[in-house]
Amino acid sequence: MCIFCKIVNKEIPSSVVLENDDFLAFKDINPSAPVHILIIPKKHIESFNDVDSETMAKMTPFIKEVAKKVGVFEDGYRLITNINDNGGQEVKHLHFHLLGGTKLAWPKLV
Ligand code: AMP
Repeated sequence: MCIFCKIVNKEIPSSVVLENDDFLAFKDINPSAPVHILIIPKKHIESFNDVDSETMAKMTPFIKEVAKKVGVFEDGYRLITNINDNGGQEVKHLHFHLLGGTKLAWPKLV
């Protein structure tokens, strides 16, 4: 079982921000910004390449709700999903990084 499935099953502790039947939002253990939340579907989907449009349609309002709950919705934030090796995906369970809480830089990535 992957590490994020274990977090969903509460086998590994996490700092939960928001949860419903389908999705979970929790704090990243190694934050890259003052606000750094990971948002995942509870069902195991390997990456954005594998997600169906119905799941994404449900995930969109959940992500916005998380952004409101952590107080970044109006000021702005960044959503990132890393895909496979060149995208730098370490955990092979679809997740969106929600980053904010300050004015984010846009560094050169290569
Ligand atoms: P990625 O490189 O896009 O796959 O990102 C994986 C993210 O998961 C990284 O930002 C890690 O800090 C984070 N992470 C790994 N294990 C945990 C954990 N147990 N709880 C919270 N975040 C985690």
